[in-house]
Amino acid sequence: MKTVFGPEGVIAKAHPEYEHRPGQIEMATAVLRAFEQKHHLIVEAGTGTGKTLAYLVPAIAAACGSGARVVVSTGTKNLQEQLMDKDLPFLQEVLPKTFRAAVMKGRNNYACLHRIKRAESMPVLEGLDQIDQFDEVVRWMTKTETGDRAELSNLPENLPFWRHIDARSDTCLGQKCPDFDPCFITRMRQRALDADIVVVNHHLFFADLALRNGAYGAVLPDYAAVILDEAHQIEDIASEYFGVQVSNYQIDDLLRDVGFLKFENREAERELTRVSARIQRFADMFWISLREGRGLEGRFALISGYRTASGSDRPKSINLSLSDKDEEQQAGMPANRRQDVGAPYQALDNALNRLETMLDALKDAPADAENIIRRTRQLRFDLNFIIKGDDQSFVYWLERRGRGVFLRGSPIDVSGLLQDKLFEKVPTVILTSATLSSAGNFRFIRERLGLDEAEEMIAESIFDFGGALSAAADARPPFATMGARGR
Ligand code: SF4
Repeated sequence: MKTVFGPEGVIAKAHPEYEHRPGQIEMATAVLRAFEQKHHLIVEAGTGTGKTLAYLVPAIAAACGSGARVVVSTGTKNLQEQLMDKDLPFLQEVLPKTFRAAVMKGRNNYACLHRIKRAESMPVLEGLDQIDQFDEVVRWMTKTETGDRAELSNLPENLPFWRHIDARSDTCLGQKCPDFDPCFITRMRQRALDADIVVVNHHLFFADLALRNGAYGAVLPDYAAVILDEAHQIEDIASEYFGVQVSNYQIDDLLRDVGFLKFENREAERELTRVSARIQRFADMFWISLREGRGLEGRFALISGYRTASGSDRPKSINLSLSDKDEEQQAGMPANRRQDVGAPYQALDNALNRLETMLDALKDAPADAENIIRRTRQLRFDLNFIIKGDDQSFVYWLERRGRGVFLRGSPIDVSGLLQDKLFEKVPTVILTSATLSSAGNFRFIRERLGLDEAEEMIAESIFDFGGALSAAADARPPFATMGARGR
């Protein structure tokens, strides 16, 4: 690491204004040791440490040396852009080894070819503006290499119909999709498979971790190590993705996709229309009852907050679990009625069940119908889980945002899940941030995250770092240009 970061190192030679920082070398050495000895590391690195280069250089050395891919996950878009547009191109120039890096964004940033083609024949657009915008998306779709909506810079950021054509995991048909090969997600995954360093954000990383080993939705290629920068955020984000959520939008989307199904059998089509109408009616009643706080036997109660590693707490959560009084009342009921928590929910569940069994009974169902069966099953399971609310390790809450109503169940403690799915599966996990310790040690965050064994360090930081490196990097071309270089 001294040959890179030392006073006579390659960085100093490339940039005479580069300031030698002992804390940076110390951190880079610890990161390299963690890769070589396959252990976890938790490192607090304050402003001026130069932490991104301190983990990227050993990550590149480890990935190129062993051929094992390293994932770098960030909490913010700014940091992701800094890595891709400045730090990695800079290292590409000064390091003797060439390497490949790829960025992966969340799936809903990318267009879904299948959904766009389907929307072309049955568009769900409102007004002339949207028709023009959709036409522009269709023209762009034939030219773009990435399918990343950031390229559509002349269209409004909140395109109203984007959620009907994006590549989100629950609507994806996976390998049964007729557009699987040219799919932008398949291509993004291929670029990541060819890369030594894959840059993602925490949302994609934990969404992928929660879905790993499942048949759908996981996109990250296998990796031998992960660096989680801005790691103070990960408890909250992991809790979001290891939890369950049901929203009114989800049911609307499901019904919209049911409307796209085509049958030869007229009677089946009529029955599907009837079932859809029932789901719509009962879903409306269900959401209204939630909005008004009735229909669930008035079981709403505020829960006390709890502190997470990032310092956030959730005092506004609304508990949907049974109150003592309800439990007493229900104790006298037959066991099979105790979970019957409200007529609107039960009616909705019955209607969803009818949709599921009806599609299930179809012979040679198309991939789209299979996808709807899977989503309906998952929706019923999640709704039942939240409405029952009897898993004491979860907090159940309701959130209203604009026209959206979201029911959520989140694990209160993610330590066991992270231990099981991350720390015990991935040989090297590096957690870093400017704020990870409390009272000079890492006990609190380690406990919250379930990190039993890890090397620890607080990197010495200086505050008069003049930004010479960043200024030099600012003048460089974006990473896309650099990325053309081979290994
Ligand atoms: S594979 Fe999934 S994301 Fe890709 S085009 Fe098909 S449905 Fe869309």
